[in-house]
Parts: sequence; structure tokens; C-alpha cells
Amino acid sequence: MGFRVYRPYVFPDAIDPDILKELKRLRVTFEPELNEETDAIVCLLGTKVDGALLDRAPKLRVVSNVAVGYDNIDVAACTSRGIVATNTPDVLTEATADLAWALLLAAARRVPEGDRFVRAGKWKRWDWTTLRGADVFGRTLGILGAGRIGQATGHRALGFSMPVLYTSRERKLLFEHTSMARRVDFKTLLRESDFLSIHVPLSKETRHLIGAREFAMMKPGAILINTSRGPIVDEAALVKALKSGRLASAGLDVFEHEPKVHPGLLKLENVAILPHIGSATDSTRRRMVETALRNCIAALKGEMPPNAINGHALSQK
Ligand code: NAP
Repeated sequence: MGFRVYRPYVFPDAIDPDILKELKRLRVTFEPELNEETDAIVCLLGTKVDGALLDRAPKLRVVSNVAVGYDNIDVAACTSRGIVATNTPDVLTEATADLAWALLLAAARRVPEGDRFVRAGKWKRWDWTTLRGADVFGRTLGILGAGRIGQATGHRALGFSMPVLYTSRERKLLFEHTSMARRVDFKTLLRESDFLSIHVPLSKETRHLIGAREFAMMKPGAILINTSRGPIVDEAALVKALKSGRLASAGLDVFEHEPKVHPGLLKLENVAILPHIGSATDSTRRRMVETALRNCIAALKGEMPPNAINGHALSQK
């Protein structure tokens, strides 16, 4: 009999042989189209999984997202149909925190501008005034959302002797201990951070959490880093804050309407722009696929997937 898995993207073959063996044993076939025989979906962020899509696959048991964020999935629609949704936490934490720091340093020290300056043939002689940026060492790092990636980003601040502030709905005692981080309220985070790094997931509550009002509360000359999700920031307001000099610069891996980038941002020199590559290292991407496949396999076998978002859905099918 076997199982049919809708996989709209091609994943690497070089994955754990035990997973490949198990897929073979279960006689799993991967298909590029969804249909009424589909048992599972293994997808990336680009696949919007809503009620309409789920209704096209009445046998569906699991939606296995190859990402930790799952704002592309209507989890309530999955739950009401007895479909378990899963994600890939942990395996991408360090790679994404590394990228947050790449953006932080790039935005502070004007790395992309320097690169463009040299390539454009504008570097005629060493000049005292060329591309002066912001200090990093010793300045205050604010973490908005001290979950896995937020904390990993905060840990790295020790090497730069940076005081760390954070907001989270729950206090993170271990994080406070390991990073000497201090939990503050949202307004204090905005007022006291020299660098504000966003790590909350995208939800109804966090959409446009950072907009004109928040930029006005931030320190003049602060720097914004976003490696979480674009719509958490009001991009039009961000353009204004960067143009006016309210913010010194920004480092962005994610955008409100990906892959489109606000035209105002593209015109600005003081923003480092990346194409959503937070988890883009070979080993991280491989481990994400392996995690997603383990989740999928468990659900197909009628077991609770290790990274179920709505585990209670299983009892409803
Ligand atoms: P996580 O461990 O769940 O951390 C999220 C944190 O946000 C938690 O600490 C949570 O607080 C906090 N939070 C949630 N809603 C909040 C709210 N309304 N106000 C304040 N804090 C709130 O997730 P993660 O693994 O760190 O991943 C974070 C996000 O990074 C993902 O959702 C994804 O969107 C993004 N991401 C992007 C890339 C990329 O390629 N750029 C790669 C990986 C992940 P509590 O602890 O108090 O519940």
C-alpha cells in the first residue's frame, strides 16, 4: 500500500541513511502534486497551508514544515481536521543566531556599503572620514523574544562585553545567568537598546509590533536587526526611520512581502539586506530536512511526532 507525500520542493539526498531506510520500509513515495490520496505534506515556508488546500487532501495526517516558524500554516484548520502540524526547532538555532550577528556587525560597521564603495571604484585613497560606523563593543543589545534563537543571539554578546536586555512573556532564569541578561518591559527595551534584535514569531499579536510609535521610542541612532519575520516590522515606517536618521541603520533577513523588498529600503545605503538565509548552511538545511522527515514518518506510523505543534489533533482523526 504505502504512503503518498506531497513535497513541493526537492530536498537533498544526502540525509541520514536510517531515515531513507524507514521511508523505503513504509513505501513512501514523494509527489510534486497534492491530491485526494495524499497522506502527508512536507513543505517549506513558501507553501501556504490553509483550509482550502487541506480540503483537497481528505486523507492527510500530517503537515511537516521544514522551518521552525509556521506562520504559513493555518494550525487551527489542521487541528479541526485531525491533522498534526510539525516544525523543526533547535537544529537551526545557532545558524540563525550567527546570521543575526552577521547583520548586526554589517549594519553597525557599514560592511555592505564598504563593499559597494570599493567595487564601484570610489576608493581613491585612505581617508580618515570614510564610512564611520557605530561601536558594537560594550553597547546594549536588546532581544525581543528570548526563545531559542533570541537566547543564542544573546549568548554571543558576551564576547563583545554587551549588556543584554530582553522581553519574553516568561522569565528566562538560565539565560539571565549565562548571559547576564536582564528582563525588562517592552518600552524599556525600546528606550535602552542600542541594537534591537527581533526574535518573536509572527502571529496576530506580533504583526507590526514595531512601527512608527516604537521607532520614536528607540534611542536616536539605534540599529534594528530582523531575522524573524518581515511583517513584525512596519516596513514603510522603517523606511522613514532610516531616512530621517532616527535609526542609524538596519540589518534585515526578512521582509513584509517576500521576495519583494520595499522600494524605499532598496534605495537606502544604511540597510543591510539578505534574502531570508537565516538557516542557510549545508548542515543546518540537512538537519532541518531530517527533522521534518522524522516528524512525517512518526505521524504516518500513527505515533506522536517529536515536534508536534498541535499534538492534540491526532486524537481527533
Ligand atoms: P521560540 O523558541 O519559540 O522563541 C520565540 C520567543 O518569542 C519565545 O521566547 C516567546 O516567549 C516569544 N514570544 C512569542 N510571542 C510573543 C509576544 N507576543 N510578545 C513577546 N514575546 C513573544 O522560537 P525560535 O526557534 O527562537 O524562532 C523564532 C522565530 O525566528 C521563528 O518563529 C521564525 O519566524 C524565525 N526564524 C527565522 C529564520 C530565518 O531564516 N531568518 C530562521 C529560523 C527562525 P515565551 O518564551 O515567553 O513564550
